[in-house]
Amino acid sequence: MASGTRLRRFAYYGAVVVGTAAALGFTSAHNSSSANPFSRDRRSSGEISAITERMSSSGWRVPNRNTQEAALRGSSEVSPFDVLVIGGGATGCGVALDAATRGLRVGLVERDDYSAGTSSRSTKLVHGGVRYLEKAFWQFDYGQLKLVFHALEERARILHNAPHLCNALPTMTPCYEWWEIPYYWAGLKLYDLVAGSRMLHMSRYFSRKESMEAFPTLAQQNALHKTLKGTVVYYDGQMNDSRLNVTIACTAALAGAVVLNHAEAVSLKKDEVTGNVTGARIRNKLTGKEFDVHAKVVINAAGPFCDEVRKMADKNAPQIISPSSGVHVVLPDYYSPDHMGLIVPKTKDGRVVFMLPWLGRTVAGTTDSATNLTMLPEAHEEEIEFILDAISDYLVVKVRRSDVMSAWSGIRPLATDPNVKGTDTASISRDHVVCLDSDGLVTVTGGKWTTYRSMAEDAVDVAIKSGSLQPMNGCITQALPLVGANGWDPSSFTVLAQNYVRMKRSYGGKIVPGAMDTAAAKHLVQTYGGLAPQVALIAQLEGLGKRLAHGYPYLEAEVAYCARNEYCESAVDFIARRARLAFLDTDAANRALPRVIEILAAEHRWDRARRKAEMADAITFLETFKFSRNAQFDDGKHRAR
Ligand SMILES: Cc1cc2nc3c(=O)[nH]c(=O)nc-3n(C[C@H](O)[C@H](O)[C@H](O)COP(=O)(O)OP(=O)(O)OC[C@H]3O[C@@H](n4cnc5c(N)ncnc54)[C@H](O)[C@@H]3O)c2cc1C
Repeated sequence: MASGTRLRRFAYYGAVVVGTAAALGFTSAHNSSSANPFSRDRRSSGEISAITERMSSSGWRVPNRNTQEAALRGSSEVSPFDVLVIGGGATGCGVALDAATRGLRVGLVERDDYSAGTSSRSTKLVHGGVRYLEKAFWQFDYGQLKLVFHALEERARILHNAPHLCNALPTMTPCYEWWEIPYYWAGLKLYDLVAGSRMLHMSRYFSRKESMEAFPTLAQQNALHKTLKGTVVYYDGQMNDSRLNVTIACTAALAGAVVLNHAEAVSLKKDEVTGNVTGARIRNKLTGKEFDVHAKVVINAAGPFCDEVRKMADKNAPQIISPSSGVHVVLPDYYSPDHMGLIVPKTKDGRVVFMLPWLGRTVAGTTDSATNLTMLPEAHEEEIEFILDAISDYLVVKVRRSDVMSAWSGIRPLATDPNVKGTDTASISRDHVVCLDSDGLVTVTGGKWTTYRSMAEDAVDVAIKSGSLQPMNGCITQALPLVGANGWDPSSFTVLAQNYVRMKRSYGGKIVPGAMDTAAAKHLVQTYGGLAPQVALIAQLEGLGKRLAHGYPYLEAEVAYCARNEYCESAVDFIARRARLAFLDTDAANRALPRVIEILAAEHRWDRARRKAEMADAITFLETFKFSRNAQFDDGKHRAR
């Protein structure tokens, strides 16, 4: 071996050991607040814990929409916000929470709903990225390895800060060749090692018999007639992505951030003399009215759309986003066991496809192809077919197009150097970019859901420096419980089941008591955490205990609760992001719509015209979800109904 190569390997594996030590907690440079040049700590630790306690108390209430809009309008040239965030996805809401808890004055505008973009359309994994680890290993790429270390650290933080919305999920890697067993076993043990003290559970080998017991629908023979030799099971985190996003937005609002959904930044404001960005012109999309928001720094967290915002400041700004679409399909629960996922490590064209249990159904995906930018991306029939083909090789279940209950597409905000040519989006780094575009405009993009918190931390650090802002303390989001985390425990559903009834209106119009069954109680605590009793109370006291759709635990009371406490402003906000019906079962979402609109109309005092418009908007939205009845054509193989 050439000495140069040997040296490189030595340096690489040295770095692996040092990095692992860091992950195991032997070094703490990353966490040390003294290493953070922005931690002024003018607030005492007692004051900080008082704030966090107030935020997580069950008596919380976010300011209502009118109050938030008035506060945004209240900014002026002489009294600007410290930071205005554009975009209410995971990244933008993470930025608002980070900045607000540092004692900065923060506004956030989201042109649709929190999580309406990519952040509701992910695979729902909170992960370090096993495939990046594979790349790191084979390409001796310390950069990739650092990404994995870092993401695993953030994985642990998300699971700690929002335990009600996340869970550890075992995932099975099937081996149909003998050599695959040691290969995947060693790779996944390395994943455990890299996670160190943040490991969720240890990976392990399952014999063929154990594998079949844990995953009865797994094929005993693959498409090449090779017999299953065994499987290796490893753990990652899983989340309810849009609920987590809305929870971050609400936590930010409780921390003092002024957040407004359905409010678009239509242009940026600039100082005529210096050319610095000084705020934005905002259009309230529910009323059509426009107003200015003044800020010392604008943080652009518009995800795949961040180039649009950058071009508002400089129309010649080079493109930094290569949008790539990823499709998922949702299948009935019998495709996968309740608590075991499946990873297809290499499809015919070398991609990774997951098949995971999620909220009582099975999610399979994803794809990766260059796309155009749109807020309502649609799954293409060939992408759906690709996923169904990929999983059908590993299942005894007859995989049918007619089983697809929902299919959706999301756009990855892959940040790339504009000088790099090529459209192979899988090869572009998933690390995030924070750049100071012009004075007063910071862009944060790329990365992944799992790393939203650290992306936010980095962006706020840059904003503080560039805007000479005066935070009251350093970043405190590492161990900050999100709303609902306090008072939650995995068994709290039993208290709901024992203490509440679902008072519901019978078909004859009478209010009658019904049991708070286990499925509904479990669903409420997994969705609202420690605040679930508040939803149960609405169901009990206001006669809103009926289910919204047959076969799903969503209750009418949730619509009222979300309208009052979670900025749920439209029917789509509810069926897609507060509840996940659109994603789980498009047909069920359609059926729930009339009642959802009726309850929202009562909460928001909608007139007849608004109700009609809501129905039309929701139907248009659901048409972009390609469930079996929406199939554009029959591929003849996975036959549509
Ligand atoms: C198919 C797929 C699967 C994925 N799976 C995973 C996974 O399992 N785990 C993981 O960690 N990551 C995953 N990711 C990545 C992750 O979902 C994204 O990195 C993350 O959601 C990006 O969040 P964001 O806030 O930057 O962007 P977005 O969620 O897109 O948010 C940007 C927001 O900005 C708003 N906006 C745009 N312009 C304006 C304007 N002018 N004014 C106001 N608002 C504006 C948009 O409406 C949008 O809501 C996946 C991504 C895809 C596409």
